[in-house]
Amino acid sequence: MPLISRAKALSTLAPVQLTREVFGNVPEWARTTFYLLAAAAVGVWLYGIARRVRIWRQGRREVPGINRILAVERVVRDVILQRRIWGRGAASLAHVLLFGGFVILFIGTTLISIEHLAASALGRKPNDPVFHKGLYFGVYEFIMDAAGVALITGCLMFLIRRWHSRGSFARSPADVAVLLSLLAIGITGFLIEGLRIIHAQTPLPGVSPIGYACAAGFVRIGVTQASAGQIHLALWWTHAFLALAFIAWMPYARLLHSIAGAINLAIRDHAPGVMSPVSIEEVEASGKIGAATLADFSYRQLIELDACVSCGRCEDACPAFEAGKPLSPRNVVQDLAAVMHREGTHQNLHGQAIAAETLWSCTTCGACADVCPLGISPMRMITDMRRYLIGEGSLRGSPAAALQKTDRSGNPWGLAPSDRMAWAAGLDLPLASEKRQFEILYWVGCAAAYDRRVQKVARSFVRLLQAAKVDFAVLGAEERCTGESARRIGDELLFQQLAEQNVVTMGRRGVRRIVAHCPHCVNSLSNDYPQVGGQFEVQHHSQLLAELIEQGRLRPLDSGAADGPSITYHDPCYLARVKGVTEAPRSVLSAAVNESALLPIVELPRNRRQTSCCGAGGGRMWFDDALAQRVGQGRVREIADSGANTVAVSCPFCLIMLGDGLAGTPKVEVRDIAELLAEAVLGPESLKHGAAAHSPPSGEQSKNSNGNR
Ligand code: SF4
Ligand code: SF4
Repeated sequence: MPLISRAKALSTLAPVQLTREVFGNVPEWARTTFYLLAAAAVGVWLYGIARRVRIWRQGRREVPGINRILAVERVVRDVILQRRIWGRGAASLAHVLLFGGFVILFIGTTLISIEHLAASALGRKPNDPVFHKGLYFGVYEFIMDAAGVALITGCLMFLIRRWHSRGSFARSPADVAVLLSLLAIGITGFLIEGLRIIHAQTPLPGVSPIGYACAAGFVRIGVTQASAGQIHLALWWTHAFLALAFIAWMPYARLLHSIAGAINLAIRDHAPGVMSPVSIEEVEASGKIGAATLADFSYRQLIELDACVSCGRCEDACPAFEAGKPLSPRNVVQDLAAVMHREGTHQNLHGQAIAAETLWSCTTCGACADVCPLGISPMRMITDMRRYLIGEGSLRGSPAAALQKTDRSGNPWGLAPSDRMAWAAGLDLPLASEKRQFEILYWVGCAAAYDRRVQKVARSFVRLLQAAKVDFAVLGAEERCTGESARRIGDELLFQQLAEQNVVTMGRRGVRRIVAHCPHCVNSLSNDYPQVGGQFEVQHHSQLLAELIEQGRLRPLDSGAADGPSITYHDPCYLARVKGVTEAPRSVLSAAVNESALLPIVELPRNRRQTSCCGAGGGRMWFDDALAQRVGQGRVREIADSGANTVAVSCPFCLIMLGDGLAGTPKVEVRDIAELLAEAVLGPESLKHGAAAHSPPSGEQSKNSNGNR
């Protein structure tokens, strides 16, 4: 009977009769050989994994350990549902198709093996399966066909992308070989299904549509039932050999990422803005600080190295790479992984695998860790290695001078601690040491204390707090630098010294709640300070101002303006990406610009969590770059191209960096949201009085002109 007619006849079968012979047309000797080869492949796989685990275990153990409940949640969310993969259009779809298809086919093949072993153990006849029949069989076959299509489609999409695109993902021959192998496994799977259908005369178009289509194609080119059996056996061996070789190969190729990546996604512990804790006791006992070798990384970081697929997402998002600095986060991870594979974990990394200039280029903006689909943090590897460089005294020039000034004077400007309150002349500011009882501590920060441009932000914010009758105080001369820049440059000892001083001071003054206008201070006080015993409730000024507006305690005046200049908002990395605060500053801005007059706010192409760095984070503020070489020039162009007349910011570093960058674009003004709100609530005149007459003159210079201030 022709195949098509037979298909019509078989389509009337009752569900319970639906089945097929497992290992049909495969002789007994071939089945035995297959199982022996499968055992060998699993053995090679296990050996490869054991080797990797032995290397991973050479990393430092970390406290806290693995959070098991969180790990299970992440397996579901990030591994099975692939949540971190979504958001990159065709690339995301290709990965989900390939991953989903592969996993389903793997599970399906395992089920077939279980069926075969169970049937053999129970002495069943070839056409009397244990569970591989009826409705289960129908659903199984259909899902396996769909998974095969998904796998092939995913492979083709990746291959086409690699062929045509100029994107930054990996194009090594090994990567292409992996894709071609998977493609061959998928295609041979359908071909042997088609040949088996002809040979066993079991066409089921509704159950195995692709297999049936292949069978129909073979019939059309003259394949008979007899010849189908011979071709089937040859192709079956090809398919089986490819699949088993693929399994054995996994731990030795980029495919390892599927195992290391899944483990890393489940157990990673680097929350945004949180750095690896350092025990000074351990440093004193070992005489070592930071990462000199891979053995100084945590075991999680060594897993990260094997998890990286070299997709280049981190590189695409890196502002230092964009600015032409000698830093690609992808290369950092790949170079470290190459050292691990080639030389083990005890080779010194500095100067050989990773250049110091690469490490100093990072602004710790967090974009790389945020976009990595495998949950890898190149940034954390960089800051761990920076700690070693600082311990070796390798930092020179303006950033080293800033650290020395911070150590000597409690601020990177190196100005007198007694001048810390000069900015507040005439403001009648309550000091924590005098007031004793207050609700909120306003953490002023070094930039507002010593930089004349930022002082205007602090004055505006204080005026707003006073207008809203907020019960607050400041530490005044008792405040020291948070140590945020020092820590991110790599000077952990200086950070801990400053943080401990500040924690003791705030404990003495009964501080529980803090507001700061600097996102770097906010992050340090909320994420760094718990590691040295400081637990506070910390808010950014945008959050408090939004609350006060909401409560009706700050009401913008009706300016009566019919129109006004267009305005845009630049999200600071440490506020938007690290702390996740994106809407509070926009609410403040909406109120400040008196909606009808200035709205809509022009959104920059990269906004909110996808913002782009101004270039000052990670201690880069203190590097003496010429303006054109600074990280963040791309962001400056983006702002200039937006057509806005005002760019609102909510970070003193962004204010300085963008102010310098836009100095040659006089039509664009850079202003903090507090300044705009103070003008709207208190009137333009409010900002003109009481400028920081006693502030040190050097604080007025821009970063560009101030060099190593
Ligand atoms: S670190 Fe992550 S984002 Fe960067 S190349 Fe590796 S896998 Fe891709
Ligand atoms: S933290 Fe930012 S600057 Fe540093 S490597 Fe990552 S993306 Fe690049």
